Amino acid sequence: TTQTDHSFFGHPKGLQTLFITEMWERMSYYGMRMLLVLFMTATLQEGGLGLTVASAAAIYGLYTGSVYFMGLPGGWISDRLLGGQKSVWYGAIIIMIGHIILAIPSDDTFFIGLIVVILGTGLLKPNIGAMVGQLYADKDVRRDSGYAIYYMGINIGSVIGYGVCGYLMENVGWHWAFGAAAVGMALGLIQYKITTPKLAGVGEHPVYPMSEKAQKTSWSLIGAVLGGIAIVTALVFNGTISIDPVAVAQYVAIAFSLIFVIYYAVIYFFSNLTPNEKKRLWALLLICIASACFWSGFEQAGSSMNLFARDYTDRLVGSFEVPTGWFQSLNSVFIVLLSPFFAALWINLGKKLVSPSYGIKCAFGLIIMASGFIVMFFAAQYAASGMKVAPYWLVATYFLHTVGELCLSPVALSAVSKLSPKRFAGQMMGIFVLTYSIGNIISGLLAGNYDPNNVEQIPSLYLQISLFSIGIGIVMLLIGLKSRFWESLAADDEDPKA
Ligand code: GLN
Repeated sequence: TTQTDHSFFGHPKGLQTLFITEMWERMSYYGMRMLLVLFMTATLQEGGLGLTVASAAAIYGLYTGSVYFMGLPGGWISDRLLGGQKSVWYGAIIIMIGHIILAIPSDDTFFIGLIVVILGTGLLKPNIGAMVGQLYADKDVRRDSGYAIYYMGINIGSVIGYGVCGYLMENVGWHWAFGAAAVGMALGLIQYKITTPKLAGVGEHPVYPMSEKAQKTSWSLIGAVLGGIAIVTALVFNGTISIDPVAVAQYVAIAFSLIFVIYYAVIYFFSNLTPNEKKRLWALLLICIASACFWSGFEQAGSSMNLFARDYTDRLVGSFEVPTGWFQSLNSVFIVLLSPFFAALWINLGKKLVSPSYGIKCAFGLIIMASGFIVMFFAAQYAASGMKVAPYWLVATYFLHTVGELCLSPVALSAVSKLSPKRFAGQMMGIFVLTYSIGNIISGLLAGNYDPNNVEQIPSLYLQISLFSIGIGIVMLLIGLKSRFWESLAADDEDPKA
């Protein structure tokens, strides 16, 4: 039935439900995220937390990293306990509660709000992404463009979030901006409830349910883990445990990478996969590595590039001072503008040449993103010589970053949906979202080297990021070209069980 459903821009109408829900979720996520580093580094007099850039960047990296790390248990809960529909529903409710807590003007509740948003996003994000793919039958050629449309929804939401929260932050107050994120999520929630029937049963049940008894045990276990998190949080709060955010972020980056490897290996070796399924997991692994590298550069947007906009960019247009946070929204604006062009590009390339494989597109994505940092390198050199730079530098960087993102990110989502074993749909998306997590934490650590008192160092930060990403991109390109590995898998070889 899904094959014949063309009611949302030629796509199944369930895509509309997921598109709008994710749009509002991302509005709340990015609207709030844009504020984080600015809020934490603002002085107490300015109503902020008065933290150093290194601490704030590490906390920021830990926060965004944890948000995406929780996609792993979130995907598991969906596959085995709740199913996608309920996971997204409860996830959205939890996220909204988190933003409401952040809106309370008290520093004490701030970190509790962050933790609640982390838990909710883990439950929502991978599962809504996995459900997009489940709207399509195996061979449905609309999958890639379905993800491209969904990706636009993500970014329309982000634009709204940056615009609204950026404005409120500078003109009304921090906590009003946090509150706006809660309102956005509430709108998404209401919409989701009303239009869930459009999903036509997708995500109604867990794809790989557990026995009744195992379910009970699992819920108790989840309860215990949540209890543990609450206790540790309380201990950090009253000062019994003191943490150094930078050191914690370093350990966590290593721990998450290990967890990635172990989780992947367990699925690969111990899940009775067919040889075909295994082959696909190899292709996915390379895409995951590219993704982690990509985000560790790209995600400077919310941290060091955000600060660069604040400190070294001439933001006056006439007599209007562009709010710092608005620069980040350039990424989403460019996504919305460029998406149709990219959709046409892939189709035309497919007709004229060979359609570039997932891996080749990802490699190009990395290299183009890296070239954006070359631009930042020059901008930072001007800044280091003591002048405020024109806004075009950031505009050009965001443009290149966005072109890179469009080559890599929606493409990779579709690849995950297509190449994953069906019964691990949510979990594989969770593993993929873990690459966002690793990327974000590494990015936060890198941004910690952005020292406002030491401007001379900033150019070399950007140059390093750039060279590293170009290196990985070239290696990926070579693997992709040489082995023809990607092509054989993208060509959708017959799977007898499908
Ligand atoms: N903008 C994308 C999203 O929100 C990717 C985010 C990321 O950090 N990987 O889904």
